[in-house]
Amino acid sequence: MIPVKHMCDEDVMTCPKCGCENTHLCRTIVYGRAEDQATVKRTTYNQTGKSSSEPINSNPSSRRHATVLELSCEYGCLFDMSFVQHKGWTIVNQV
Ligand SMILES: [Zn+2]
Repeated sequence: MIPVKHMCDEDVMTCPKCGCENTHLCRTIVYGRAEDQATVKRTTYNQTGKSSSEPINSNPSSRRHATVLELSCEYGCLFDMSFVQHKGWTIVNQV
């Protein structure tokens, strides 16, 4: 379950480790793949907006697309959130 805190009419994600409401997206990683293709294109966006892409053979999804958000809180905790397509489901993980 994604921890949130309701503040100023918005649901704000909080750090799952310490509860801090000041969290930051560090990197966004998109794994793009046509259904069941062997090669995946991984595109990574860093905090400055720069991106890099490369073909790879691994992917959080065994069949399709996935997106991984790497986050931190202002107390230094690091955590990930991912959205992984699997068959008809979009699986949400938070580590
Ligand atoms: Zn934290």
